[in-house]
Amino acid sequence: MPHCTNCGNTKTLASTLVPVNTPTANPPPYGLLANFDEDGSIDTMECQGADLDDAQKAFERPELYFNACPVCGSCDILWHV
Ligand SMILES: [Zn+2]
Repeated sequence: MPHCTNCGNTKTLASTLVPVNTPTANPPPYGLLANFDEDGSIDTMECQGADLDDAQKAFERPELYFNACPVCGSCDILWHV
């Protein structure tokens, strides 16, 4: 399963690759978040600005999209352990 080499988080990863398009004063830091189950598969995704096309692509190829740890902010994500 994917994990953050900095803090060891394996539950939630974020993508910095999808744009945040929300016209709010306090936009979310990431356009897309994914929550992973114990097998390392995506359990749920939270779109915070990503459109459905981006979300679908990220779901199909998560290792290309989810590149940041929302817990500590690190981008050192290891996908294959
Ligand atoms: Zn981390």
